[in-house]
Amino acid sequence: MRKTLYIIGLSFFVFSCTSQKNVKQNASRTNKQVVQPKTAVAKPVNDKPKPQVTHEGGVDFFTTNIADAAKNDNTVSYGSIVSAKPAGYKVVKTYFPAIAQNFRQRYLILHYTALPDDKSITVLTQQGVSAHYLVNNTGDNEIYQLVDENKRAYHAGVSSWRSDKNLNDTSIGIEIVNAGFRTDSTKSRVFAAFSDDQVKKVAALAKDIITRYQIPATNVLAHSDIAPTRKQDPGPLFPWKKLYDEYQIGMWYDEATKQNFLTQAQVDFTTRYSEPAFIFMIQTALQKFGYGLELSGAWDDATKKTVEAFQYHFRPQKYDGIMDAETWAILQALNQKYPIK
Ligand SMILES: [Zn+2]
Repeated sequence: MRKTLYIIGLSFFVFSCTSQKNVKQNASRTNKQVVQPKTAVAKPVNDKPKPQVTHEGGVDFFTTNIADAAKNDNTVSYGSIVSAKPAGYKVVKTYFPAIAQNFRQRYLILHYTALPDDKSITVLTQQGVSAHYLVNNTGDNEIYQLVDENKRAYHAGVSSWRSDKNLNDTSIGIEIVNAGFRTDSTKSRVFAAFSDDQVKKVAALAKDIITRYQIPATNVLAHSDIAPTRKQDPGPLFPWKKLYDEYQIGMWYDEATKQNFLTQAQVDFTTRYSEPAFIFMIQTALQKFGYGLELSGAWDDATKKTVEAFQYHFRPQKYDGIMDAETWAILQALNQKYPIK
C-alpha cells in the first residue's frame, strides 16, 4: 500500500512539474500581447467541498473527514491544525487540506503502572517515562491526559510488532493504575485485578482513540506483546475478551475455529513437542502473528517469554510460558482470522 502511495505521489509530482512547465511556456507566449499586472496572479481554483476550519482558543480546527480509504490505510483527517508563523509572512489555509495524508497514530498500547495512584502520577509526569493517558483507580469519572496525542510519549521502549519497530513513534499509550504482580512461594506470578470502573474507563477511552484514528484490531496491543522479553503488563487479568465481546476492541479468536485446530494440535503435542522442526513452526507462527522473535528451533528463554506474553493476552487461564495444544490452537485460529495484509 505504501509503495503504491509512493508511486502515486511520485506520478503526481512528475505530472505537476510537467504542468507547471506548460503553464510557463503558455504564459511567455501570451506575455508578448498582454502585460499582467503584478497583483493579478491567477491562483488555481479548488472547487471540491472543503472542510470548514474553525478557530477556538487560539487554535484552528477542522472537523470534516476528507478520507479516501482507497488511497490510504488510516486516512482520516480532522482535528487541530498546528501551523508555522513565519516572521513577515502569512500562512493561509486556502488550499487546505491535501487528501494525501494520514495519522501518525497507528497503535494503541495498554499498560499497568505497578504503582498506586499518587506515585503513578509522579513517575509519569516528572520522570523519564510517560503515557498519553493515565486511568486512575479512585472510582471517579476522570481520565488524566499527560501528553498531547500528536506528540510522542515514552511508554513503549524497545518494541516491535509485525514490520514496525520503536512503537513510541506511532502509538498512543494508556497507563492503568494497578499493583502489577507479586511472586508467591512457588515462584508463580500473582497479578492484581482491575476494577470494573477502570475497565469501563479504558474501554471508553480506547474506543474513542481507535475510532478517531481508525486503528486496526491487530494494532491494539499489550506492552507485553510488543516487548515480550521485558514486560508483563497489563498482565493476564486485563479483560481483553470482555473488551472484544462488549466493545469490539482489539483481537479475539473464534471458538469453533480454535476447536478445529485443537484436534490436530493434540496429536502433534504428544509426538512432536521436542522436534526442532516443530518448534521452528511454532516460532514462525508467533512471528507471523506479530511478535519480534528469533527462529531458533529451540524452546529458549525468548520463546518461553513470548509464549507467556501470548498467554497473558489470549489464554489468561494458563500463563506459564509453555506452549501446549490449546495455546497453539488459539494462535493458529488468530493467524487465520488476522492475516497480514
Ligand atoms: Zn508498560
